[in-house]
Amino acid sequence: MQTEPQAIEQGQPSAALPQTDEDGLFEIRLESLGGFGAHLAGKMLAEAAVLRMGLNGAHFSSYGSEKKGSPIKSFVRLAAASDRVRTSAPVERPFVVAVFLDNLLNDPAILSGLRAGGILIVNTTKTPEEVREALGYHHDTLACLDATTIALEEKTRVNTAMQGALAAMIPFLDVGAVREVLATTFERKHASIIESNLRTYDRGASEIRIDRRDPAPEGRGVVSVEPKWGYLNAPIGGVVADPANTVTKNLSGSRTGRIPVFHQDKCIHCGLCDLACPDNNLSWDIVHREDETWHTRLRGIDYQYCKGCGACVDTCPTGAITSERETPGFADANTVPLDWSPRIVDGARRHEPS
Ligand code: SF4
Ligand code: SF4
Repeated sequence: MQTEPQAIEQGQPSAALPQTDEDGLFEIRLESLGGFGAHLAGKMLAEAAVLRMGLNGAHFSSYGSEKKGSPIKSFVRLAAASDRVRTSAPVERPFVVAVFLDNLLNDPAILSGLRAGGILIVNTTKTPEEVREALGYHHDTLACLDATTIALEEKTRVNTAMQGALAAMIPFLDVGAVREVLATTFERKHASIIESNLRTYDRGASEIRIDRRDPAPEGRGVVSVEPKWGYLNAPIGGVVADPANTVTKNLSGSRTGRIPVFHQDKCIHCGLCDLACPDNNLSWDIVHREDETWHTRLRGIDYQYCKGCGACVDTCPTGAITSERETPGFADANTVPLDWSPRIVDGARRHEPS
């Protein structure tokens, strides 16, 4: 969304911003994965600032073609009512970065360009000290909250809790105005979900653990991640044959906090999950019988490329795959790697039933 000064509703005060960059802008960047609702969170923040607080603003997001589970960035740019927002470029020098899942902190570009004295908000179960230590980030303000647990307990989504944290941490944002936009938005979807979402929002605003330190002497440098492939080295025809690939080959944090768990005792090896999975993550064996016939048997899930979309869970007729909250180390301990050797029925991949 983008607004012009004359678009501000009549009767609104002519609002100003206490802190802006050299262009008169206050910029926020939301770092997330498709499915967490970062786009909607950014949209509602901008809507509250523009339509209820009398500021000018713009909001847009950047994501790939396959949204769920893929990294996305959402940008909110605010200006005083008397100023126009004259750029639609991605936010490179934000005052605030909100990270919707702490796995994303593995990416060195996540904090790119965060200004000195800025605010970092992270959805994590870790303490601010643990996050600072992992990032080597020892200045500025860090706010941590366990938005995933809040969302699971309230049966809502992470974005609503993160919105509460953003509204509470950005000093000039009116927490009540954002709350009103939230209520109006969810009222349009279904009245029954308003209360749980407002509770999620309030918990997001109140359950943050804040660690304020001196401003960094300088802001963070702008980090640009170069694609792994370009016109000089891309395979002929532009076909990238590796499984679940992207041009940046960034596989960190590609799940949304939930993970499919395979229960072999319930599996009837029907293969429906394999048809549903968009990334071919199901690992299969070919089992030979004594009478020289054979069948396929599901061994487990290769978590390297799994984005936790849950399609396999929804499809399984026997409950042999369930969706669970991902805990640290679970994927590494339980992954069953895909076997990309040639699928020769008689020979190379011979396995006996256990
Ligand atoms: S859909 Fe369920 S029962 Fe069928 S192969 Fe997959 S896990 Fe097994
Ligand atoms: S959750 Fe299931 S369907 Fe989705 S990517 Fe992972 S294995 Fe595939």
